[in-house]
Amino acid sequence: MRDITENDIKNNIPLVSKKDPKHNSIVKVGDVIFGGKKIIVIAGPCAVESEEKLVDIAKNVKKAGAKMLRGGAYKPLTFPYRNERMNELREIGVEHLGKVRKKFGMPVVSEIMDYRLLDLFKKNVDMLQIGARNMQNFVLLEEAARSGMPALLKNHPGMGIRDWLGAAEYFLYNNNPNVVLCQRGITAPFTNNVNSRFIPDILSIIQLKKRYSHLPVIFDPSHSTFDRLYVADIAKAAVAAGADGIILDVHPDPPKAMVDPLQALDYADFSKLMKDLKQVAKSIGRDI
Ligand code: PEP
Ligand code: MN
Repeated sequence: MRDITENDIKNNIPLVSKKDPKHNSIVKVGDVIFGGKKIIVIAGPCAVESEEKLVDIAKNVKKAGAKMLRGGAYKPLTFPYRNERMNELREIGVEHLGKVRKKFGMPVVSEIMDYRLLDLFKKNVDMLQIGARNMQNFVLLEEAARSGMPALLKNHPGMGIRDWLGAAEYFLYNNNPNVVLCQRGITAPFTNNVNSRFIPDILSIIQLKKRYSHLPVIFDPSHSTFDRLYVADIAKAAVAAGADGIILDVHPDPPKAMVDPLQALDYADFSKLMKDLKQVAKSIGRDI
């Protein structure tokens, strides 16, 4: 049984569907190319905390081989409470990203939750992240698509590939082919407890790449495991499975990260992981 029917391919997702095994598209973000031989590593804090910290993180992840910087300025947090320790920088955070990308010549990706912020994002970031929770926010999808900017479309953890590709279809339907899919973990009832929230769905990378879509696919080992003990091994598994990239949380002092302190890697662990990923990439005829 296939997850996606012939009817879907013909009528619902014709634009994102793979026409033949060699049908692979590439997406360019500045001089970074997703979907080519090179595997792209995107690293940075879950949340932008200050300009100084962002500069330090950018410097260190670039040195270790990351090609793009990530950082959330508007965060889709599960609970509404904010306090002195935990308060996103919002507009100021997006502007920090704009400055830091120039300083290091590194394209940046950041999550947009509201289409009314598109002008701000256009000025300061290179790629729009559509987060898990907004995968089917169709107004946001349409407006993001029409902005013409490249997008990183994460899957909703409770939905399948069919719905995910349906969301991606909104971009191509609105004449924006620059979509990269990002698998960020899925849920089952037993994962709905405090410390074990998601299952890293490695198989979906293979399904998408080999059977269902021509779009580049990257993987998020940080949000899909929620625990730094697992991040490196799952990142290696994702690269071995054919992911076109990895996006992960890196922080100078992970337990003190403003958001998601359990999953970020420190600089030393990130740098070690980059070396290991290079070996894995080489073993499948790719490089990082
Ligand atoms: C994130 O990347 O910071 C994030 C919130 O991810 P997700 O939408 O996958 O939960
Ligand atoms: Mn996060």
